Amino acid sequence: MRRVSPKVFLIGETRVIDEGLDAYLKHVGAPEWTTDAPSDAEKLTEVCGRLCYKSFKPGLNQNVTRVREGNDKYVGNLVEVGHGSVLEHAVVNFVFADVSRVFTHELVRHRVGTAISQESLRYVRLTDLGLWLPTVIANDSSASQMFQEIFEYLEKIQLKLAEMFNLDGDKVPFHFKKLVTSAMRRIAPIGLATSIAWSANHRTIRHVLEMRTAPEAEEEIRLVFGKVGELMLARYPNIYGDFTVEVVEGLSCYRPKHSKIQVKH
Ligand SMILES: Cc1cc2nc3c(=O)[nH]c(=O)nc-3n(C[C@H](O)[C@H](O)[C@H](O)COP(=O)(O)OP(=O)(O)OC[C@H]3O[C@@H](n4cnc5c(N)ncnc54)[C@H](O)[C@@H]3O)c2cc1C
Repeated sequence: MRRVSPKVFLIGETRVIDEGLDAYLKHVGAPEWTTDAPSDAEKLTEVCGRLCYKSFKPGLNQNVTRVREGNDKYVGNLVEVGHGSVLEHAVVNFVFADVSRVFTHELVRHRVGTAISQESLRYVRLTDLGLWLPTVIANDSSASQMFQEIFEYLEKIQLKLAEMFNLDGDKVPFHFKKLVTSAMRRIAPIGLATSIAWSANHRTIRHVLEMRTAPEAEEEIRLVFGKVGELMLARYPNIYGDFTVEVVEGLSCYRPKHSKIQVKH
């Protein structure tokens, strides 16, 4: 048994292909267009937004005599008027590690705009259970000890069952190992540390960040999304420019000015 703490790894993000973008800008008649976007995600968001009205420069669309300058203002306006779908183009890829199945079960309730790959406890045998203690338990030495003892006991049971079924024996067919491993997970604790890859577009991340860092949300998901919020605000300042951060009960609470962005007209 090992004590762990939830971790967030930012492992990928959408990037712009400059050659393709240059070719498109030439095609649309705005080869000289540039942006001060601080990231590819914000550049892509601006391009996809401007494509709608051909608003790369005044007069490209004869109905457009003025265009909004500056990526912060452009993306900020998309968020304010509620063109949330434009924020769906760029995706961010995370791995959440040493998180419990309590956390992953809550996370997967967010279905829209996500992709998920979760560590399989059907294939991956439990040999070393990871435990993170919520504050209310960590602050109580008797409760902490009880959690630890139960985890140790359940880990022993996993090892014992593996031995009983001779899973490490010679020539044990993989399908049998899988069968037994899958059965054994039923008596693993829901608090055991596991990992999940989670990809989501920025519209979704804004929504989940708001919901899951709210004081009503569960401590572990608040902790994880607090880390997500820190990364997002630093990396994509214009997409998350309307968020404010307040510390509630020791955890960051991210509140957007424009909640759950949807077209308002
Ligand atoms: C504090 C807290 C407590 C919770 N407690 C419980 C609980 O006790 N029991 C429980 O079962 N769940 C609970 N949940 C989960 C909650 O009910 C939602 O399922 C979860 O937060 C997913 O959010 P979402 O519905 O916004 O879906 P997302 O998948 O994040 O979707 C984003 C948005 O897209 C739209 N959308 C998504 N799917 C559809 C659809 N099928 N049709 C139409 N529009 C759609 C909605 O506008 C939705 O808000 C809790 C969540 C929180 C934050």
